[in-house]
Amino acid sequence: MAAERPASRSSKFTFGAVRLYDPVGKTLDQSCDVLVIGGGPAGSAISTLLAEKGWRVTVLEKDRHPRFHIGESLLPLSIPFFERLGVLPEIEAIGLRKYAAEFHSMYHDKSSRFHFREALDSSFPYAFEVKRAEFDHVLFRNAAAKGAEVREGWRVTGVALKDDRIQGVTAVDEQGAEQHWSPRFVVDASGRDTFLANYFGIKSRNPKHNSAALYGHFRGAQRQCGQDEGNICIYWFDHGWFWMIPLKDDLMSVGAVCWPYYLKNRKVPVQQFFRDTIALCPGVEARLAGAELVSEVTATGNYSYQSSRMRGDNYLLIGDAFAFIDPVFSSGVHLALNSAFEGADTVDAVLRNPAAAVARMAGFERTVRRGLKTFSWFIYRITTPVIRDLVLHPHNRWRIKDAVISLLAGDLFRGTPVGPRLLIFKAIYYLKTVFDPQTSYAAYKRRRNNIAV
Ligand SMILES: Cc1cc2nc3c(=O)[nH]c(=O)nc-3n(C[C@H](O)[C@H](O)[C@H](O)COP(=O)(O)OP(=O)(O)OC[C@H]3O[C@@H](n4cnc5c(N)ncnc54)[C@H](O)[C@@H]3O)c2cc1C
Repeated sequence: MAAERPASRSSKFTFGAVRLYDPVGKTLDQSCDVLVIGGGPAGSAISTLLAEKGWRVTVLEKDRHPRFHIGESLLPLSIPFFERLGVLPEIEAIGLRKYAAEFHSMYHDKSSRFHFREALDSSFPYAFEVKRAEFDHVLFRNAAAKGAEVREGWRVTGVALKDDRIQGVTAVDEQGAEQHWSPRFVVDASGRDTFLANYFGIKSRNPKHNSAALYGHFRGAQRQCGQDEGNICIYWFDHGWFWMIPLKDDLMSVGAVCWPYYLKNRKVPVQQFFRDTIALCPGVEARLAGAELVSEVTATGNYSYQSSRMRGDNYLLIGDAFAFIDPVFSSGVHLALNSAFEGADTVDAVLRNPAAAVARMAGFERTVRRGLKTFSWFIYRITTPVIRDLVLHPHNRWRIKDAVISLLAGDLFRGTPVGPRLLIFKAIYYLKTVFDPQTSYAAYKRRRNNIAV
């Protein structure tokens, strides 16, 4: 068990349930059991769990909450995580319930709705659409309330390494003051900044996927009625696909995930380009007629990446700090939370019994990679004509459709028998490609060429 929490040498004061640290009292070299880099969903969740287990946890977050972040559509199987963290009522209060995921095709003039209540395990019939500024803030405040020392405006800038062990961590605050920590364990939850992966030079572009995104928020977009109001809608178009994610306060998050060649050809300002892109997809354009763009338009390129390693002697990479694939199945936050939960058990076990470290960390790695791999197969093929056909004309023999819904719900880590049925789905996919070789070869070539861009 962790040693009794020592009285902090920083002067501190309380704000509601949150402990804030006054930088005036800072010392030169701080110790803690676990230092977490980044206070997004992964960092806040693992900090909460480890602090509850009695470890002295420090979270360093370079920004200040609440702050904007993309990634607003959550999955039903994240709900048990919220319950365990003790934040479900707060997430319910800020979120809009999402009962289904919808796919719309202008090529078929048809759409298909996948209700989470029809998943193999129907216990989690909805998820939430959230403004990430609010969502991330809830999780971060919760980490502080559960006993983690949380510091905002602190950017981790370096680590001291001996063999494969991190011996020290350096961070600077907003005034440029530097401070050092000597933690027993380090968790990198720095998201797309991929702090440790960059430091070690182990990050690379995903060799099987390449896409880029443009996104913004609208007010006054056409919304669906009743229980369908919160559904995420995916619309395919010639250069990729769109998301429409309804949020509270009449906001609609709209994003276009495109092949990189399309973004590279941009010759007009990004906002105009976004509007021109929307005009290429009649379904999205119709729902945005009369809506007002109320945010900046952001463009992100080449965002599919992975790291060749996710652990060392006394460190782990969790969430996006390890890998990110693509947002089409809204899997990012769920995978980040799952790796935080698995990571918390792993770090706890390693700190209690360092002799078991290698086996525990290997188990952690297997689980995280399995989740990423299961989503990847579908994500890589989502724009192919064969997948479009299968999604728009789903059939439920052997409960294959229900298994796809379980995947969309994020039910991959609890032993629900999803795997065999997804295998049948894949077999049907390959059979269909054999029966339509011309179209399938064209789709394959297009994907290969786009990865090379
Ligand atoms: C275009 C797009 C759309 C997406 N849509 C969805 C979606 O609909 N649903 C979904 O689930 N996911 C979506 N995602 C993915 C989702 O945003 C991420 O998977 C999720 O935020 C990962 O959480 P995280 O905690 O690992 O990282 P983050 O949420 O990125 O948190 C990392 C934190 O670390 C901090 N940090 C970074 N470097 C340092 C440093 N050196 N020192 C201190 N702090 C640092 C950052 O400020 C940040 O707060 C989308 C992603 C993209 C790119």
